[in-house]
Amino acid sequence: ICWSERGGWHRPRVQAYGPISLDPAAAVLHYAQEIFEGLKAYRHADGSIWSFRPDANGRRLQRSAKRLALPELPVEYFVESIKQLIAVDGSWVPSAPETSLYLRPFMFAKEAFLGVRPAKKVNYYVIASPAGAYFTGGVTPVSIWLSTDYSRAGKGGTGAAKTGGNYASSLLPQAEAYEHGCAQVLFLDAQEATYIEELGGMNVVLVKRDGTLVTPESDSILEGITRDSILQLAQDRGHRVERRRVTIDEWREGVESGDIVEVFACGTAAVVTPIAQLKAKDFTVGDADAPAGELTMSLRQELTDIQYGRLPDRHGWMTRLDAE
Ligand code: PMP
Repeated sequence: ICWSERGGWHRPRVQAYGPISLDPAAAVLHYAQEIFEGLKAYRHADGSIWSFRPDANGRRLQRSAKRLALPELPVEYFVESIKQLIAVDGSWVPSAPETSLYLRPFMFAKEAFLGVRPAKKVNYYVIASPAGAYFTGGVTPVSIWLSTDYSRAGKGGTGAAKTGGNYASSLLPQAEAYEHGCAQVLFLDAQEATYIEELGGMNVVLVKRDGTLVTPESDSILEGITRDSILQLAQDRGHRVERRRVTIDEWREGVESGDIVEVFACGTAAVVTPIAQLKAKDFTVGDADAPAGELTMSLRQELTDIQYGRLPDRHGWMTRLDAE
């Protein structure tokens, strides 16, 4: 779909996958005025195709658009764009267990203009790619690297938006995490380097011995839809949920004293990943070989059962994508 200041949103169409042409002066190439979303289409046992809370992704895209001075795409257009893509060829949604079709909606400044100001011509696209099961041979707990040299997003910055620049700044610390044998990088707040923010591409949840789930509240992290859903499921089971500032010492000392019994990361791609160990320059907590936490795994199971239609959708989270 195209957008211009004068014409608004227009020209919705499905075209064959292939390169798109951009003017070398397109604003996105110079000032990174772009945003995106990530969600999945799931095939249920009866063959029907569904997605999980696409309206929440559509609303998040709107919040990202506002921060990046891009035009707001109505949530109905967002959901419709995904339905239209599936309508062309639903056979791309795989049916093997735990597989899906990954959907990547994105919007960028197309206008050729070298001055620094919001673009007056913008494009919105959705591309899709079949995704295999994230974990083959069982969900494996991972180690996480604490970045102390770099932060991801500062106060008043773009941390809460899903925009490429946040990911560009996480590439170097992410490479550092790999060098230390870790799957992802953990960022702290940029001001005091004291409070936990999130991983490069996932949110974090700590589970206390008394069953309370604690997760960072911050206006510089991405509000994960997976995290919101997992916490809802935990609340339904009677767990207390705390959204508040969490210091890195609370994590470290909690694991050392046994007050924190499980830690997990969550996001659309892997759903829920147990975190066995936290590594930093000057300390390591947790055991890399520790098994996945029981609550972590049972919440993961419940959420994927809802997504794949194996459990009733009691919260009205699923949207059918193919024509009934
Ligand atoms: N934080 C970041 C930085 C992410 O990229 C993602 C993945 N979109 C998440 C958190 C988790 O968000 P969601 O559960 O909506 O996928």
